[in-house]
Amino acid sequence: QPVVAVVGRPNVGKSTLVNRIIGRRQAVVEDVPGVTRDRVPYDAQWNGRAFTVVDTGGWEPDAKDRAAAIAAQAETAVVTADVVLFVVDAMVGSTDVDEAAVKMLRRSAKPVILVANKADNNSIEMEATSLWSLGLGEPFPVSALHGRGSGDLLDAILAALPEAPAIVENRPRGPRRVALVGRPNVGKSSLLNRFSGEERAVVDSVAGTTVDPVDSLVEIGGQTWQLVDTAGLRKRVGKASGTEYYASLRTAGAIEAAEVAVVLLDSSEPISEQDQRILSMVTESGRALVIAFNKWDLVDADRRYYLDKEIDRELRRIPWAIRLNLSAMTGRAVDKLAPALNKALASWETRVPTAHLNQWLTALVQATPHPVRGGRAPRILFATQAGVAPPRFVLFTTGPLDAGYQRFVERKLREEFGYEGSPIEISVRPRK
Ligand code: GDP
Repeated sequence: QPVVAVVGRPNVGKSTLVNRIIGRRQAVVEDVPGVTRDRVPYDAQWNGRAFTVVDTGGWEPDAKDRAAAIAAQAETAVVTADVVLFVVDAMVGSTDVDEAAVKMLRRSAKPVILVANKADNNSIEMEATSLWSLGLGEPFPVSALHGRGSGDLLDAILAALPEAPAIVENRPRGPRRVALVGRPNVGKSSLLNRFSGEERAVVDSVAGTTVDPVDSLVEIGGQTWQLVDTAGLRKRVGKASGTEYYASLRTAGAIEAAEVAVVLLDSSEPISEQDQRILSMVTESGRALVIAFNKWDLVDADRRYYLDKEIDRELRRIPWAIRLNLSAMTGRAVDKLAPALNKALASWETRVPTAHLNQWLTALVQATPHPVRGGRAPRILFATQAGVAPPRFVLFTTGPLDAGYQRFVERKLREEFGYEGSPIEISVRPRK
């Protein structure tokens, strides 16, 4: 169960806030300066999520060793916590003790929610905006006593919590589903033939799995894969017989049915509009993607030079796709296909713990904040990963983000966590 630590000076109302969060009157002793309480955990729930709140008691800012006491208290609380609620008295504003604590919290890199407590009315709530100066992002004005603002605060806590205990993704444990797609003549059948051998490795049924009749189980790199719509690859539909419309429907269907797509391109020819359409189908579907440049045996130094330029130009939207240069004819690099598929699928199913994600994000937005627009810069408060296959993220912000800044976050997210071979989706949820 995730842990939320409540940290703050004595008398800022931590106990009242804990009472408010756990939603019942419990004998939580009010902070008394100079008296250290044991850290007491309480069970809390909000919107069906359970978490533990740890009331860390008061600091002992005894004049002599004040900084050390603060450091020790903040650190123990924070080490075990997934999220820290840093409580400040909105009527008093920030004090030097608060500022010292902020330094410790920053160093911990845990997600911190700044709570401006005792914001019992609008005018104190307005005052609370001065707490921006603490550098912890937007203060959440709350009246723990009267309940004002506590719903928003609880929403923010949930958003910052780690994912609910991993719901085991119960994907049927059969072979992974692959779509082998590409325009006519790029070499799909030739590549398929390489894997299946003389149909040797193609099995039509495996105990416990059901395979669509148009699919085949094919061995690639010592592993069994379910190649979707192999019927369409095997039957050499005469080039003239199938309309492009029909071929494109079939391609879309195969991609939808698959988890990862291999888009075959013909390296000896320019990347065409049809190639681009097929690539777009994959990226729009959210499937993992491996691009295989087939007929690499036909690529000489000259062609290579132009091809590199073309790739930079034509594939710049999908720099994350895994690329392979292979030849279905000679067998070159064909053994790289299975590792590439596995890599892409692993990226596709990557889940980053919320605490880790937010540690990284805090550092990122500190180093490169959102540019100021019209006197204000929206801030990213937290992020959570909402799902996998592909990885989906939600950014909780104080306002809409610039498209450019969002792309920057995506690029940095990829730099940090990889996702090679997988699209990722980011959505922004501005508060209120
Ligand atoms: P499909 O329509 O995508 O299934 O393409 P095919 O597998 O039928 O291949 C089309 C043509 O390209 C055939 O003449 C193949 O022999 C040829 N071809 C396929 N792969 C390669 C390759 O890696 N190198 C060369 N040079 N030719 C290839």
